[in-house]
Amino acid sequence: MIVSLSFLAAELTAEDGVLSALEIPPIYVVEVTAPDQLALITLLDAGFNVGSVYELTATLYLDEFEYGEIASLGYPVLLVEVQPCSDQVDKADAYRTPGDIETLFAAYQQDYPGLCRMSTLGKSVNGIDIWAIKITSNPGVPADKPAVKYISTMHGDEPVGTELCLYFADELLTGYGTDSYITDFLDRTVIWLVPIMNPDGFVISMRRNAHNIDLNRSFPAYPSDFSTTWFDGEPLGEGNREPEIAHIMRWSAENHCALSLNYHTGALIVNYPFDNIPGISSGTEAPTPDDAMFQYISLQYSTLNTPMYTGGNYPQGIVNGSYWYSITGGMMDWNYRFMGCPEVTIELSYIKKPSPTLLPQYWAENRDAMYAYAETAHIGVRGLTRDRNTDVPVWSKVLLAGNPQPVFSDADFGNYHKLVLAGTYDISFHAESYISYYMDNIVVNSGPAARVDVGMSDGDINVDGLRNSVDIQLAVDAVLGRTIAYDADVDGRGLSATDIQAVINSVQL
Ligand SMILES: [Zn+2]
Repeated sequence: MIVSLSFLAAELTAEDGVLSALEIPPIYVVEVTAPDQLALITLLDAGFNVGSVYELTATLYLDEFEYGEIASLGYPVLLVEVQPCSDQVDKADAYRTPGDIETLFAAYQQDYPGLCRMSTLGKSVNGIDIWAIKITSNPGVPADKPAVKYISTMHGDEPVGTELCLYFADELLTGYGTDSYITDFLDRTVIWLVPIMNPDGFVISMRRNAHNIDLNRSFPAYPSDFSTTWFDGEPLGEGNREPEIAHIMRWSAENHCALSLNYHTGALIVNYPFDNIPGISSGTEAPTPDDAMFQYISLQYSTLNTPMYTGGNYPQGIVNGSYWYSITGGMMDWNYRFMGCPEVTIELSYIKKPSPTLLPQYWAENRDAMYAYAETAHIGVRGLTRDRNTDVPVWSKVLLAGNPQPVFSDADFGNYHKLVLAGTYDISFHAESYISYYMDNIVVNSGPAARVDVGMSDGDINVDGLRNSVDIQLAVDAVLGRTIAYDADVDGRGLSATDIQAVINSVQL
């Protein structure tokens, strides 16, 4: 008898869990030990669904055919479990469920209306809501505060991060107004928590979603699905994606965040982008243009988690994603490359689903690291990009000289944030129909972000038929034979259209 999964989703019992196992083809979770590093790299890049790697042993998620293939390699293969695994449904009950989270967040919203807002990002394949909570002082008012998002359990059998999000929410809400640090923290920071991104996988203790898709391999991938960014005109493309991914994409586009992390289990490590640069194999670094920053924010997390720092998969508990093992279609690379939001992937425990009695211990090990990570959203350079005449927010692209990866301002509020380490930077701002704005020698210290607010000048002038701000700038540069020092303008807000016209007129004379 075929039972509809959407029917099962409404009220899942242990018995239903058994039936749903019939619906989804089995996934074999195996540990394969390669004889040497070269064989391991070949195995990691062979196209199997890799869950984690420890020394020469890879954890793989295989379908029936692949499971047969693996044996032919002749390497030691240990079958860990077969998913979905009905015998784990009872264990899942001890972790809080999507239903528990809905009840909890509703209570929080009622008890702390001045501190949080709950929302659903949308529904899973089986119709279960993906709950989110936004926690900050005055959550209903758009504010010039860095926002940090914590997304857990995109792999349904990795629920530790779910509980960390819930511990975190509880402490933030109960601590505001009584704990001076938490009060200050929420007055200057926005925290977004998505405790379970893959609720269907969670309820049947399965890595993938109810379409049997690994959600961390199915985000748009560079360069096959996009080659630039959303700002630069690439479509968001959420309509063609798994529903859980589509919801995260749309929500990410609607809610500007300065920083992000996603939680997993199966290893003990912070891994940072890139997970993939085409042509670079597993076991080789694929650094981003912001590699130093990523190492810094990763260490801010790992140094405060003693088991991770001292006993993680790699020294100091951090590793470049590709160096560990390369994946395509991961959320981390998409968030950073496409949305301009730095994200790391954090593995919390070698045991994928530890006994719930250990959860207080995991919270104790991760609590300070969670705050420290959020604090890194306050470094770098940030500010507002608005129209100098109307003060309307301007959706802009912000670039540091020598670094090709942009960040983008929030279209509705105009705030932007580029996380960088201390140094001196040349920064530029670009927006459709506005004259590009250049600021040189911005000094960034190691503490709170340097503040650079920009009044953008619209490019609505007509000089020899030039209306595009880039064209105007190129024309002026060509006439003067150099780049104009826009930041030298007397009012410090960049050149106005009148200024540009005056420059061109003077040179033409
Ligand atoms: Zn995972």
